[in-house]
Amino acid sequence: MPLPFEATREDKSSEGKQKNVFIENRVATPFGGHNKIPIFAVLNEALIMFEAPIKNFSRNKAFPNWELKAVFFDMDGVLYDSMHMHARAWTQAMQDAGLAFDAQDCYLNEGRTGNATINNAIVQQWGREATEEEKQSIYASKSAYFNAQGPVRPMPFALELLRLIRSEGKQIFVVTGSGQRDLIDGLNRDFPDIFHPDRMVTAFDVKHGKPHPEPYLMALGKSGLEPWQVLVVENAPLGVQSAAAAGLFCIGLNTGPLAPEVLSESGAQVVLDSMQSLYEHWHRLPADKS
Ligand code: MG
Repeated sequence: MPLPFEATREDKSSEGKQKNVFIENRVATPFGGHNKIPIFAVLNEALIMFEAPIKNFSRNKAFPNWELKAVFFDMDGVLYDSMHMHARAWTQAMQDAGLAFDAQDCYLNEGRTGNATINNAIVQQWGREATEEEKQSIYASKSAYFNAQGPVRPMPFALELLRLIRSEGKQIFVVTGSGQRDLIDGLNRDFPDIFHPDRMVTAFDVKHGKPHPEPYLMALGKSGLEPWQVLVVENAPLGVQSAAAAGLFCIGLNTGPLAPEVLSESGAQVVLDSMQSLYEHWHRLPADKS
């Protein structure tokens, strides 16, 4: 049965609370024609948060029933609380090279490979492609500035959510545009027994970084699953665009300074404000029927 509304926005109401939604319904009158009458509907948060967006998404894609079997996580800004460190490092490295670049540029470029970020800045500001040497030296400088800030902190509630998903027997992937070996290698230290090299897609694996669909399509191929069996968790507009271009359902986590609308306009079906929120509402996802 078609749902009476679209729910794609974050719902910040408290756990277990019922949400009141006012809907106008058209009802036939005995005299012909229709009256528009308001009805007062009490809808469960689960419907608002996940079920309606999933049903709408599946219907639009002509997918069969959604059955979650794998979760594809972006890394920076999702698994790691690292974006403020990347912003500082990118700003310093780019400015050292004579390129204008600020924190907002970093958040808007997030998800691209380092090489693509550097090339775009040079094309826009100097009117030519970046050389290999420029790409390597600026990225090395950026990585050094990043590492000088000390260890990166896992995102609060990331480990709890990963353990919960693992306990449900679902596959867990990391799909990142990062080429920082130390960060990628740190996944197994910070999230023990969660990730496996066969379930990782990094900057080293793809020709085209996000927003191109290649990273998420590669993860889908590795999983052996269908698009209706997969959920993407992303924090960056370009990452959300990549997931959308790959035809996957995407939860946007707005963990940075951008407006939440940027993520929904990029194609996220649901937008939440934190990993903690996703962890606390995870049980509201439709149960796996298989
Ligand atoms: Mg990210």
